[in-house]
Amino acid sequence: MAGKKWVYLFHDIDKAEKYVGGDWDAVRGLLGGKGANLAEMARIGLPVPPGFTVTTEACNAYQENSKFPDGLWNEMLAALAVVEKDAGKKFGSNTNPLLVSCRSGAKFSMPGMMDTVLNIGLNDESAKGMVALTKNERFVFDSYRRLIQMFGSVVLGIPDEAFEVELDGLKSSKGYKSDTDMTAEDLKSLVVKFKAVVRKEKGFDFPQEPLEQLKLATEAVFKSWNGKRAVDYRRATNIPDSLGTAVNIVTMVFGNMGEDSGTGVAFTRNPSTGERKLYGDYLLNAQGEDVVAGIRNTEKIETLGGPLPEAYKQFLDIVAKLEIHYKDMQDVEFTIERGRLWMLQCRNGKRTAKAAVKIAVDMANEGLITRETAMNRVTPTDVDTLLHPQFSVETKAKAKKEGRFFASGVNASPGAAVGQIYFDADLTEKMAKEAKQDTIMVRPFTKPDDVHGMLAAKGILTSEGGATSHAAVVARQFGVPCVVGASSVQIDMTKRQMTTNGVTVKEGEWISVDGTTGEVFVGKIDLSTPSFEEQTDLLTLLKWADEISSAKGMRKAPRGWPTTGMQVWANADYPKDARRARQYGAMGIGLCRTEHMFFETSRLPTVQKMILAQSDAERQEAIDILLPYQRSDFDGIFEAMDGLPVIIRLIDPPLHEFLPSEEMLLEEVITMRVKGQTKGLAEKEALLEAVRGMHESNPMMGLRGVRLSIDMPQIVEMQVRAIFEAASDCTLRGITVKPEVMIPLTGIVNELNWIQPRLERIAKKVMKEKGVDFSYKFGTMIEIPRAAVTAGELASKAEFFSFGTNDLTQMTFGYSRDDAERSFLVKYVEQGILPKNPFQTIDRAGVGKLMRMAVNDGRAVRPSLEVGICGEHGGDPDSIEFCHTIGNNYVSCSPFRVPIARLAAAQSALKHKGEPVVGE
Ligand code: PEP
Ligand code: MG
Repeated sequence: MAGKKWVYLFHDIDKAEKYVGGDWDAVRGLLGGKGANLAEMARIGLPVPPGFTVTTEACNAYQENSKFPDGLWNEMLAALAVVEKDAGKKFGSNTNPLLVSCRSGAKFSMPGMMDTVLNIGLNDESAKGMVALTKNERFVFDSYRRLIQMFGSVVLGIPDEAFEVELDGLKSSKGYKSDTDMTAEDLKSLVVKFKAVVRKEKGFDFPQEPLEQLKLATEAVFKSWNGKRAVDYRRATNIPDSLGTAVNIVTMVFGNMGEDSGTGVAFTRNPSTGERKLYGDYLLNAQGEDVVAGIRNTEKIETLGGPLPEAYKQFLDIVAKLEIHYKDMQDVEFTIERGRLWMLQCRNGKRTAKAAVKIAVDMANEGLITRETAMNRVTPTDVDTLLHPQFSVETKAKAKKEGRFFASGVNASPGAAVGQIYFDADLTEKMAKEAKQDTIMVRPFTKPDDVHGMLAAKGILTSEGGATSHAAVVARQFGVPCVVGASSVQIDMTKRQMTTNGVTVKEGEWISVDGTTGEVFVGKIDLSTPSFEEQTDLLTLLKWADEISSAKGMRKAPRGWPTTGMQVWANADYPKDARRARQYGAMGIGLCRTEHMFFETSRLPTVQKMILAQSDAERQEAIDILLPYQRSDFDGIFEAMDGLPVIIRLIDPPLHEFLPSEEMLLEEVITMRVKGQTKGLAEKEALLEAVRGMHESNPMMGLRGVRLSIDMPQIVEMQVRAIFEAASDCTLRGITVKPEVMIPLTGIVNELNWIQPRLERIAKKVMKEKGVDFSYKFGTMIEIPRAAVTAGELASKAEFFSFGTNDLTQMTFGYSRDDAERSFLVKYVEQGILPKNPFQTIDRAGVGKLMRMAVNDGRAVRPSLEVGICGEHGGDPDSIEFCHTIGNNYVSCSPFRVPIARLAAAQSALKHKGEPVVGE
């Protein structure tokens, strides 16, 4: 590694860019997001305090050998000399000291998960120098006590409480409410007390040598990359461990130098709603962590013009410039030192799902970004969140009437949550994970150490802090509903309860938290799903998504293959599901599981009669009763999907699923015998015998799917008649029908050769009887590896394929889809034996390879072969992308996932725009 450059001054961004080959993403990888953006802000002429960045490569080299790599310290000293020159101050000087901060900054922002030390360079002597220079003893000793506390906890590992006890003790002995009540003398005495804490806890003195402070702080930031909270956070956000953090050494500027100084954080648009309006908080006479920690009550950013008009005006200009420069909503930190504004950070702001959609759509409409860019600013998970349950206005009004309103606070992260309250992160996580409870974490305010509890909770409530406090930022990022700053709530950590206006809620009791409005209620409130139609920004975004997916030329493919992106269809068994699917934007029904209609209580006895019939005539009698039921179900679905294709799958499950279980029948028979009940006993015994006769050791591999159709063709003959009678009736009513009949679980083309012509004959016969004509298709599911391997043969008969990836995964891996997930599968995923659960995300290397082969071989025989997927994977974004790359016409998923799939399909089309689809 000799010769590697470990340190880049903020002015040196061009060199860093050159080193990584010009790519901005790689610059962020090298300098971390914070370092890269500080340097970029300096480059575009914004006021950034002089400083430099130690690279992530240095961090990784440190992790390997637990020591600074060769050359790093010397490079830091050289960079420090330049910073001293730029700042006009000297590090370690007693007369004109330069103070610096040492801040972590990984490629992807990990708010509060790693460490920072401020005011490095202060010691007993330089503090005196600073007092002489600033004539502000209070400020200097405030800064010094902060350094000792931060250094003590971050670098030396002393528990925060050891310092807090001293601070609280001093405040209560003087009767102070706030930190700002402390005088210079108080702070001076606090410095003495804090130094004593260090000596007592560590057995040595707080290091007075500034260079030693700097070196140790840098090392501590490197180490914090592997701290528990950083690791937990990376697991939750899929940030690779290998990235490392950069360390930024930045000249300190002070917001705590009096009433003409201040500090704040702001978002260029509202991160909760997306509204195009500056949103943030500030504090006069304070340092950065006071705002973020949410310990002091902050002021709204729009009032900053009152006390500091010049700086506020400059700030507004800067944030406007930043949004245009980065073409995204920015989250900035700033400090005003004696009226002079300094930008300390900017980054793309974290936002709620709602805000993500609104900001993307607004920015595209404003012409700041293209619709394609807008599409990639929203994640499928965001769309999912927007369709999540909320409290309806009526249910809340009812709760209020019942006197259950408890408190209100800042609506920090939208969505509704109902759960049992716990007052610390460990217990919240434990009760959620081990006792499988829905939990709400309640704290005065949260710290990075609480993140595991926040992740496990359904909702978060804090009594302190504002819209940019730690709790708010983290909750928004993870989509956890959150109310912060509910200041009327008194939390008693000893009694483990919280109280407002005489109402007490104890640990373990239920509350309901509305993160959209900031309200909190005692007890449970019913949740309801938000209306899709009212989410106009989402509708716009999804309309653009469909336009992208339906544009020709998205895929390069041979004749017959689709050259657009994919459509999204839905799996729907009933007319009401079909209507919902269409409302959510489905362009067809990819799977209607007809057997679900058999399970309805009014129909089940007839189905059982059909199964248990002793003669063909008896069976036909039962089937004749079922026909009108099926016809009316299909009629409703065709009507709902007027003009769009509807794939109806013929009966699939083994017949014993429609009968009572053997154990239950046996128990009933024994009980009747013991009690001497004779009435009905013979029928029960006959049923038990029949069930026993149908027993299969491996029913999923037994008499089901097309095998059942061949064994007992009357059932599917009835189904096909019902489909075509309904389709004909609809046609006669002016509805456009596009029925597609799907034969499940085919393994060999001879099965299709046997059954399909019989069924096609019925189709034609019915159309003739009804005097109508419409186009239709017969096709099959690819659910068995042999079907995929012989897809060319199947395609000679089948006009369409639909991948039944639930069964295809089961049969390719040989993992039971019913049992694997509760036995070994979770462990396999945890141990990395399987990269992901293959029942959720298509295993591209195995199952996916079979799918690709099936499409290629199938279309070689029938170029116009329609290909879709209807297994659960059809709603999974990663699997959707895979389906795009192999040439699917559509994906089909549950109606609720249709909006997510529409976004994912468009994103896949954009990602692979113009790529060829015929695989290797
Ligand atoms: C499948 O196997 O993927 C499928 C859609 O069919 P089912 O889940 O009904 O077996
Ligand atoms: Mg199946």
